[in-house]
Amino acid sequence: TERSAKYKRILLKLSGEALTGEQDFGIDPKVLDRMALEIGQLVGIGVQVGIVVGGGNLFRGAALHAAGMDRVTGDHMGMLATVMNALAMRDALERANIRSRVMSAIPMSGVVEHYDRRTAIRYLTSGDVVIFSAGTGNPFFTTDSAACLRGIEIDANVVIKATKVDGVYDKDPVKHPDAAKYDRLSYDDVLDQKLGVMDLTAICLVRDHDMPVRVFDMTRHGALLNLVMGGREGTIVDN
Ligand code: UDP
Repeated sequence: TERSAKYKRILLKLSGEALTGEQDFGIDPKVLDRMALEIGQLVGIGVQVGIVVGGGNLFRGAALHAAGMDRVTGDHMGMLATVMNALAMRDALERANIRSRVMSAIPMSGVVEHYDRRTAIRYLTSGDVVIFSAGTGNPFFTTDSAACLRGIEIDANVVIKATKVDGVYDKDPVKHPDAAKYDRLSYDDVLDQKLGVMDLTAICLVRDHDMPVRVFDMTRHGALLNLVMGGREGTIVDN
């Protein structure tokens, strides 16, 4: 096949919730297996794939804090949750014969490699999928910010945020049947209209570094491949 991809190196952000599938907590192996296949299709056409996984399916610092826990401790638990998700994702990829690595922003010797940018780029260049876990390694940040940060660091062509809806809408499409989808937005549109694409820290980071963001529906089979091949999927946020 001589089709060439629009993006050579991507940073894919998978939220923790995306890994829950039909369950209401934890990790659904069926969802992981399906994602592994879709990611494998990209690797198969030579696209370099970095992944940042969330942890919201297990723990969120803000929610633990609301229930009375120290916020920083809660955020540490949230970051550890992302490492669990990353291990499960690696397992699914390896079972699908897709070479992959997990790096963690928090050193965890014997379990995963410590994040190192140059090593990560070497792995990506050699065709390994690299899963970046433990977010930024700092409390008070989100994995969306981690995705934008890693995307910029590894010089990805795009940050792709996988969601359950096909892009960014002017209002919640689940509650409002008349909600309108945006095909394209500027960073400032997102900021001015307070569209909940990502948190403000993440949006400011991509804006300052001109990193395009795509938001799309990962629950639709083939959508990821279509997006990477240049197809119209979801919403693009750029300048
Ligand atoms: N977290 C953090 N620093 C980071 C990234 C994540 O402290 O750089 C913590 C934070 O408590 C967050 C949790 O890890 O709630 C899980 O990440 P997130 O909520 O972004 O996951 P997602 O919503 O994508 O599943």
